[in-house]
Amino acid sequence: MASQNTTLNFDNTEIAFRNKSDKDLERAYWLFKMVASSSLIKIGTPITNFALSVGLPVQGIIRNTIYKQFCGGETIQGCDHAIAELGKGNVTTILDYSVEGEDSEESFDACCNEVLASVKYATLNKLISFCVFKPTGVGRFDLLAKIDAKETLTTEEKEEFARLMDRCDRICKACHKAGIPVLIDAEHSWIQDTIDDIARIMMEKYNIEKPIVYNTYQLYRHDKLASLKADLAYANIRGFHIGAKIVRGAYMEIERERAKEKGYPSPIQPNKAASDTDYNEAIIFCLDNIDKIGLMAGTHNDQSCLLLAQEMQKRNIAPNNQNVFFAQLLGMSDNLSFNLGASNYNVAKYMPYGPVKAVMPYLFRRAQENSSAAGQTGRELSLIIKEKQRRKNSK
Ligand SMILES: Cc1cc2nc3c(=O)[nH]c(=O)nc-3n(C[C@H](O)[C@H](O)[C@H](O)COP(=O)(O)OP(=O)(O)OC[C@H]3O[C@@H](n4cnc5c(N)ncnc54)[C@H](O)[C@@H]3O)c2cc1C
Repeated sequence: MASQNTTLNFDNTEIAFRNKSDKDLERAYWLFKMVASSSLIKIGTPITNFALSVGLPVQGIIRNTIYKQFCGGETIQGCDHAIAELGKGNVTTILDYSVEGEDSEESFDACCNEVLASVKYATLNKLISFCVFKPTGVGRFDLLAKIDAKETLTTEEKEEFARLMDRCDRICKACHKAGIPVLIDAEHSWIQDTIDDIARIMMEKYNIEKPIVYNTYQLYRHDKLASLKADLAYANIRGFHIGAKIVRGAYMEIERERAKEKGYPSPIQPNKAASDTDYNEAIIFCLDNIDKIGLMAGTHNDQSCLLLAQEMQKRNIAPNNQNVFFAQLLGMSDNLSFNLGASNYNVAKYMPYGPVKAVMPYLFRRAQENSSAAGQTGRELSLIIKEKQRRKNSK
């Protein structure tokens, strides 16, 4: 293990919550206390959905609580303030249009146009470090699944897929032209091979000079460290760079249930330790090939963040090397983001945005994730309590 990075301290709550007023801190405290109760989340989710669907006036409550914690605003311009606040702590933003569950060609075009608008905005605002899109935001999930299962497509489906590819290409091309890297999010395993193929095509086209297109590798899958290595071997032969956003993975329960139901071996690692091992090995692999790989470590795990910082130091890679980024989600693990930013590391927050009602599925997922990940919520809460106490003592 490398020597301890002397400048990093993820427990410094003064830095972590510098951009939070006492009122913001109090709101975060109650919010994390509430989501810590999984039974409350179980009851609250259908009640809120019902209230929204029949038009009860709950949007204001949501906007001032959970939305304010986890989202930047309803539009790109509406995120200006939140982006500037992160910027004060040397933390950049990834605008993430988080409208989910719409399944029409119009909504796919609208999503593509929204991402293109975020690329344009990024050219004007230096605080935007990456753009991002989800393949199922620009094309139909079932179509991707059909291709993944190697089923024959009808003529209409072939045309539909060509439109999906065109949307992906327009986004990646705009990012290449603007010199702004773009992340392609990873999703469920039964559409992921197709997403990987799309990402590889885009990387080969746009990553000649440097990493612009980043695919996502979910290390909770037992085969993804090997995929990352195979992608680099292929890229070396074909002469392009790899962009690798590494995450552990967000769909563990669904993946395991589906594999059991359909009777195939689960694609997920046997246990958490195996996910952690592969995640940390992926960090080392990327750093060992940093002249050819752009790395983004999307994680709230402090040990992985520390390992990445230490291994950079060991290899004399400067904290602000453009090929290494840390990333967290807005409203979570500010202790990592702001302490990394204060030590001059490149760090970015995914900033979801969109109309309150439309981002509710995203917000419910965040709440559920926080209620099931007792460790994460416990940590958020203890840091908030520590900061509340620190402020009280310093008055
Ligand atoms: C910036 C950013 C971008 C992201 N983008 C994506 C994305 O594109 N696609 C995506 O799927 N997810 C994405 N995620 C979510 C991510 O995959 C994780 O779900 C989340 O970050 C929690 O993992 P962790 O590394 O933060 O930390 P930890 O809290 O240390 O790890 C929790 C994770 O470990 C894994 N795990 C837990 N228990 C077990 C077990 N018993 N066996 C095997 N594995 C286990 C799971 O993946 C779980 O989510 C993103 C996260 C961030 C911060």
